[in-house]
Amino acid sequence: MPSPSRSVQTLTDLLRWRASNQTEARAYTFLQDGEGQETTWTYGDLDRQARAIAAALQEHKGAGERALLLYPPGLDYIAAFFGSLYAGVAAVPAYPPAQLQAVTRILSILQDAKPRFALTTHEILESVNALAEAYPVLKDIRWIATDALEDGLEDGWKRPAITGDTLAFLQYTSGSTSTPKGVMVLHRNLMSNEEMIRQGFSHDDPPTICGWLPLYHDMGLIGTVLQPMYLGSHSIVMSPWSFLQRPIRWLNTITKYRATTSGGPNFAYALCTRKVKPEKLASLDLSSWRVAFNGAEPVRAETLVEFADTFAPAGFRREAFYPCYGLAEATLFVSGGITSELPRHLTVDSAALEQNRAVAAQPGPSARTLVSSGRSWGDSLIRIVNPETLVACAPGEVGEIWTAGPHVTHGYWGREETNAETFQARIQGSEEGPFLRTGDLGFMIDGDLYVTGRIKDLIIVDGRNHYPQDLELTAESQHPALRPGCSVAFSVDHPEGERLVVLVEVSARFAPSEQGDGAQSLNGSALQKTIRQAVAAAHSVDVHEVVLLQQGEVLKTSSGKVQRRACRAKYVEGSLQRWAA
Ligand code: ATP
Ligand code: MG
Repeated sequence: MPSPSRSVQTLTDLLRWRASNQTEARAYTFLQDGEGQETTWTYGDLDRQARAIAAALQEHKGAGERALLLYPPGLDYIAAFFGSLYAGVAAVPAYPPAQLQAVTRILSILQDAKPRFALTTHEILESVNALAEAYPVLKDIRWIATDALEDGLEDGWKRPAITGDTLAFLQYTSGSTSTPKGVMVLHRNLMSNEEMIRQGFSHDDPPTICGWLPLYHDMGLIGTVLQPMYLGSHSIVMSPWSFLQRPIRWLNTITKYRATTSGGPNFAYALCTRKVKPEKLASLDLSSWRVAFNGAEPVRAETLVEFADTFAPAGFRREAFYPCYGLAEATLFVSGGITSELPRHLTVDSAALEQNRAVAAQPGPSARTLVSSGRSWGDSLIRIVNPETLVACAPGEVGEIWTAGPHVTHGYWGREETNAETFQARIQGSEEGPFLRTGDLGFMIDGDLYVTGRIKDLIIVDGRNHYPQDLELTAESQHPALRPGCSVAFSVDHPEGERLVVLVEVSARFAPSEQGDGAQSLNGSALQKTIRQAVAAAHSVDVHEVVLLQQGEVLKTSSGKVQRRACRAKYVEGSLQRWAA
């Protein structure tokens, strides 16, 4: 595949280059419903669409402004993203509101980013017009339906005066731990991070990438849309709903297109292991899959083993697993393994880990196996730092993960006060940096990063640290009625110190029964007792309260992560819908 010269420093020039040198090459294919009907655009098609959208923005003197992007998953969204960049307008990706929770998110993004434009489809525009009575702020923005632009508009496009230092887009964080903040991603951050991904993923030959991740989030946008653009290769995308409804569609797509790179958070692999029926394996061929990336959430050793065992008969190779770590504040990618090697594991003593030390141990009930999220790439740095003293940690000591390099973004939009602290941090007694403080905890051993959890979610009871994801997994594994990935652990104030609370969602298929003997009936108080005992046995911590919740009560972000703090707030105010209450 031809590659542009080093003089290309913006995504705008990159797509222009591809459009003139690979005009007819396939760029993106969108699978409607995840199978069947597909639409493909070449680099030439995308460039034409982007020029038309940019020309519409340029008619309104858009350069230097921001545009909200409100699209269903699909190619129109990709065109609008590039269309904004082609006009020198910063894109602000969002997702059309299907439920009220999503409207609130969009309103808070509007309030923060203050975009002058909103780009969308004519269909969504109609529903926005209906919403505008209830939410008058929607009327203050210039709405443009980009699928209904007049023909020939693209000829009026002029290249904007932009450089690598121009703001490309605002990535709103998913809101797992706070209200969404807009990360300012510059063109040069994107170009550097795409290069780091290329090196880390060993994308020496152009990969065929496929995915279902939301395109308005960092992993979907930077991994499945921009990495293929960076390399001039082909990417096949479908909506997250297509995947969640029938996870096998993901694996069918890899099979059909001989995809080499594809992935998602750990839960996606667990979902496939659980949901794909054994008789379907014969129709799958996963032998082309070279980089099965796994990031955005804790990577679990058991999930990898189970997935590899289940799909080995379909040609899946366990070396393909590629655990990686990153966050929007660092564009996307911070660390990843070496593609030809098996992911590295480490079994550590649980009690020592509770005291912030990783001490190797034999596997067993008092040990935990952690999967490494790899190492740094390019000329970026990763350091582990004590978040209170700002002193560098020793190997194997748990502290905050810090990173420095060209992938670290320009900060949060409109938050100058916190930016200096978060994006310009210095290690005591060191000249290195400045660093981004990630807010995540982890340790390093032999250059390998092990992510242990988030500072804000850490549960400290009686002087010992507990990571909520471990307690949640133990709790929800106690009964098939408990929904995987739908439990939350946190601590609450108590006169005797912090106390642990665990919320678990019960599937709507189960009805309460005092005896708990029917196939789909459940004895709630017996189940609470089982969970309490299991958590005590596995983690040596008392659960102050186990709360059984109705299906759908656990709050999640737009990217599907549990919102522990928001759940805690609802628990404290007593507004959770309890199961069988
Ligand atoms: P918010 O910042 O609003 O709470 P978010 O942090 O979930 O949302 P992202 O930037 O999309 O939004 O996600 C990055 C976070 O995901 C990281 O900070 C980290 O907590 C988690 N994460 C990413 N990769 C891994 C990994 N390999 N292991 C464990 N956690 C990971
Ligand atoms: Mg975050």
